[in-house]
Amino acid sequence: MGLLKHLRRKKLDRIPFPEQWRRILADHIPQYEKMDAKQREIFEKKTRYFMAEKSFEGCGGMNLDERKTLLIAALACVPLMGGVSDLYPYLRSVLVYPSDYQAPYRESGEDGVVSEGVESRSGESWDQGILVFSWDEVAYDLRHPADGSNIVFHECAHQLDYEWGATMENFSWHRKAGEPGMAATLKTSYQKLLFRLEKGLPVRIDDYAATNIHEFFAVMTETWLERPDRVRNDWPEVEKVLSGFYNLNPDFL
Ligand SMILES: [Zn+2]
Repeated sequence: MGLLKHLRRKKLDRIPFPEQWRRILADHIPQYEKMDAKQREIFEKKTRYFMAEKSFEGCGGMNLDERKTLLIAALACVPLMGGVSDLYPYLRSVLVYPSDYQAPYRESGEDGVVSEGVESRSGESWDQGILVFSWDEVAYDLRHPADGSNIVFHECAHQLDYEWGATMENFSWHRKAGEPGMAATLKTSYQKLLFRLEKGLPVRIDDYAATNIHEFFAVMTETWLERPDRVRNDWPEVEKVLSGFYNLNPDFL
């Protein structure tokens, strides 16, 4: 960490965390409720650094007030509680639209035909260091904290994937003697998902995970953070690599 950033954080640490913010976190972030006093202190610090160091921008007429900024920053810091990343170093800006927004797309099909158009989106992560959210979607997720789906956790997982190459073949964070690497485990589990979907078997995760290995990792992450029981029961091998990668227990025990 640079000296300037370090000094700025020290300065922030001297200002007491607002009680009003504590109430907002307690009301909306169940993971905060589960944390002990020490974990809460770390979480509050990270959340405040995130708010200070990333640029938040309301788009499409969005009135991005302090409460909304706080809640997005707090959600983004939940996956970081085990220390996987120092606040997503490549992330610079968080853009927030009031609701689903229109974005141009361009993709080439297997036949080489390129299709272009405009599609409706609720969130995305760019490798140029930008996260984009629809506030409606974030608010929905705040009201449904145990449905296994959370757009902020999802997009933040993509940021970590860029940072660490978590889904890359040569990723070896979790590799121990005799154990397959994280990417290999994810790949095998991804194949299992495709197989189960093909056979019409239940999967209990968003089938968007079948899109590709990156989406598989992001969907598994959001499900695990909200419903660790589901991943633990249905995808124990994935739960093992996620616990190792994030170095945390989503139940904060
Ligand atoms: Zn995604």
